[in-house]
Amino acid sequence: MTQTTASTCCYCGVGCGVLIEHDGEKILGVQGDPAHPANFGKLCSKGSTLHLTGDLDARGLYPELRLGKGLARARTDWDGALEHAANQFAATIREHGPDSVAFYISGQLLTEDYYAFNKLARALVGTNNIDSNSRLCMSSAVVGYKRSLGADAPPCSYEDIEQTDCLLIAGSNMAYAHPILFRRLEAAKAQRPAMKIIVVDPRRTDTAELADLHLAILPGTDVALFHGLLHLLLWEGWIDPHFIEAHTQGFAELKTLVRDYTPASVAAMCGIAQDDLLRAAEWIGKAPSFLSLWCMGLNQSTAGSAKNSALINLHLATGQIGKPGAGPFSLTGQPNAMGGRETGSLSNLLPGHREAANPEHRGEVAGYWGVDSLPETPGLTAIELFEAVRDGRIKALWIACTNPAQSLPDQTRVREALAACPFVVVQEAFFTTETCAYADLLLPAASWGEKDGTVTNSERRISHVRRAVPAPAEARADWAITCDFARRLERQLRPGMPSLFDFDGPQAVFAEFVPLTASRDLDYSGLSHALLDAQGPQQWPFPTGARQGTPRLYADGRFPTADGRARFIAEAYRAPKERREQRYPLTLNTGRLRDQWHGMSRTGTAARLFGHVEEALLSLNPDDLRLRGLHDGDLARVHSRRGSLVVPVQADSNLRAGQAYLPMHWGDRFLKGLGTNVLTLPAFDPLSKQPELKHAGIDVEKV
Ligand code: SF4
Repeated sequence: MTQTTASTCCYCGVGCGVLIEHDGEKILGVQGDPAHPANFGKLCSKGSTLHLTGDLDARGLYPELRLGKGLARARTDWDGALEHAANQFAATIREHGPDSVAFYISGQLLTEDYYAFNKLARALVGTNNIDSNSRLCMSSAVVGYKRSLGADAPPCSYEDIEQTDCLLIAGSNMAYAHPILFRRLEAAKAQRPAMKIIVVDPRRTDTAELADLHLAILPGTDVALFHGLLHLLLWEGWIDPHFIEAHTQGFAELKTLVRDYTPASVAAMCGIAQDDLLRAAEWIGKAPSFLSLWCMGLNQSTAGSAKNSALINLHLATGQIGKPGAGPFSLTGQPNAMGGRETGSLSNLLPGHREAANPEHRGEVAGYWGVDSLPETPGLTAIELFEAVRDGRIKALWIACTNPAQSLPDQTRVREALAACPFVVVQEAFFTTETCAYADLLLPAASWGEKDGTVTNSERRISHVRRAVPAPAEARADWAITCDFARRLERQLRPGMPSLFDFDGPQAVFAEFVPLTASRDLDYSGLSHALLDAQGPQQWPFPTGARQGTPRLYADGRFPTADGRARFIAEAYRAPKERREQRYPLTLNTGRLRDQWHGMSRTGTAARLFGHVEEALLSLNPDDLRLRGLHDGDLARVHSRRGSLVVPVQADSNLRAGQAYLPMHWGDRFLKGLGTNVLTLPAFDPLSKQPELKHAGIDVEKV
């Protein structure tokens, strides 16, 4: 008999509710959940085909182990697999110290999985070497929020998109990357055509098609644009002096900085018309409410933190925060990048939005966990971590739910690192990913519809993710694998001590975690799996005793800083790391397609999802194709300073001459070469450590 289980979609940060149709053994279909406040029953092409993506041929079914680098892996049992892993990790830690091992995890894990991994690394192993692929996704937004507003908390709700008078979308093709939210925006625009939409993007994307004004800036010039807008807001008197005086500090320094960002100089730097700059400033300055949305175009940059802060400056200068239809609102790429930040699963964080570098915070968490102390040595961030693997500092690496041999920049170095690492564990649902080839131990994980826990979407809304069917064969939930391994490791590292990982289910993991949020900015100590079942998804803060969540932050003008004031950040525009030059005269931008997700381990199993775009194509302006004697469909070799690949080209007049675009999804299972990221560079933002995945110098030649 067909049953229905309410859960959430496992793809993007919109966090849509789904109803999984199943017979208790097999998933048969999927519908949008009309009761879920993120999507009210709608699903995009990816969400509505989730039931077609469970291909067992691609799934991991049994643990596999090899006892030497040149050997083939053979099936083993869980006991043997995890005992071996515990022995390897314990021996490495004893011989080389706790910082010789590392964990690289994922924004697609559930909050309970994250928490278990984080406790394993910090409390048991004693290392801060735990980072997440969220480093590639949201870490610049984290820095932006923290240094401007005092806490890593997106202050808005999705309903603000429906209420705003002026919306600025920067570095986000939300029509592809956040489709259901984009449909809400389309509906809002149809209902209130007077609402102004400004899209900032070097490409004319499907999102830009909806805009009243498209600012096709030159790649990477966002900070100059935002400073130029502030210059005009100041000049025209479209700022809010009362808000600045009462609720902020640091405006004088910023005012001095933006004096030089005149309309003429900014228009030249950004490659846009002065009139368009003036029009954008006027719409922002005169709008009763002003909202901004952004994503990877700002974050994935060597100036990612500066871009985030420069955009937030516009909101603080105009007092456009903490009220309906207003505020700076980052869109999260992955389904649970937010949960990772909440549980402290970036190397510099601790649970409850605490800092690993703060002795008081370390003391609080150590006390709660019942251990003497937490490690002081700063942990390595994603790019640094793989460099440490490559040069031999990291000797045992545990990778969960992510595919660094496809997603990290400069693949040649990443592959060298993985090949050289003495012991690599990969915990994965799909054994087809590029990273699996490097695993000495491969552990099959449960996937969507097969495990239970929670996720937090872009608007701080926590949903209960529910299991509908059993995982195939011997695959297990991520939190359960982690805790089983941890119990075996603690028998070696803390013999005779009570276990730190005695959880009887994900609800118990959640129950242990949420008190760590109490009295912090994100306080959701009032939540439990049972409450989410009874009352539905909730937005944090949701402290103990609360009856409902909090849709909007900072409505009282107080910010979570020492003096309650937000901070203006004055940082000058910095050009991207790789400038155009004779050998590499084109600028490569990478990003998402509408119907594919990340490395395509899941979406690549559904034929229907190739209907939109069949294969990886490098898009170039028609003039650039002509210049190289290329035509639509020709195979071309694309090369950067780091490597090359062969890919068909297509003419695209939505790009200016000198620019190129290649989807991020294709790895070496689909392309000749090491995938899209063989071209991208590992340079990163000095504060957020987020790499510059959207700006690499390349050239293209016919093959
Ligand atoms: Fe899933 Fe995102 Fe599509 Fe919603 S918008 S159905 S969360 S991929």
